[in-house]
Amino acid sequence: MKKQLARYGAIFMTALLLAACGGGERTVSADASAEIPEEILGELDEETLQELVEEPRYVALTFDDGPRRDTTSVLLDGLLERGVPATFFVIGRQIPGNEDLLKRMKAEGHQIGNHTYDHTRLLTAEPDKVVEEIHKTEVLLTELLGEGDYWLRPPYGAIGKTRAALVKTPMIYWTVDPEDWKTLDAAQVTEHVVSHVEPWGIILLHDFYPTSVQAALDIIDQLQAEGYTFVTVEELFRIRGVEPKAGCLYASPDKLRSLS
Ligand SMILES: [Zn+2]
Repeated sequence: MKKQLARYGAIFMTALLLAACGGGERTVSADASAEIPEEILGELDEETLQELVEEPRYVALTFDDGPRRDTTSVLLDGLLERGVPATFFVIGRQIPGNEDLLKRMKAEGHQIGNHTYDHTRLLTAEPDKVVEEIHKTEVLLTELLGEGDYWLRPPYGAIGKTRAALVKTPMIYWTVDPEDWKTLDAAQVTEHVVSHVEPWGIILLHDFYPTSVQAALDIIDQLQAEGYTFVTVEELFRIRGVEPKAGCLYASPDKLRSLS
């Protein structure tokens, strides 16, 4: 009997978790063409028409594994020059000595998130360790930048259901991964991202590598020319009208990752 109850308990918890992350429904939808009167639509040239009827293309650039003094500084300069906000998922142990970089990120409108203290694989870590790894970085960020909702990107994008239930913020995966840490080739990384990106996407890069910083700036220049607007991950969800839930892993506002 006891065993059976425990089993039902587990099924119930799974159902709860599914229900908890299952939502992610859009509350806002934009259809610009629906608002333009017929007679005006007929008068417009092709290019203007295209601009008017197309939904704005929003995309978010995210950077993991920083901060790193030499590379992150160059990236911040490039983002500032282009007026582009990004999202940084920082490793806690790299914060001491780089406090000024974190303050600069916040002052310049970037979103800052948590990438654990020690870049720990949360999929296999003991539950206590999972909580500690997230908490230690959260404390550092709070002391430095004030209270905030520091969203988590699990290292390697990997976390299971039971550990995810311990996470008190939304978790962010990605839609485009050019494996910049492996190729270490700015042109190749740029080409991969530009050819795979879609509106509402989340691009994964690492501000730890000079080649990735160069790629990021080239990606911005190319995608801006294609009509993309860069926003932080938080803004991407807000504009899309999706309220992300704690303990759920999102590849984008429209795509939830199922947890193993
Ligand atoms: Zn990482």
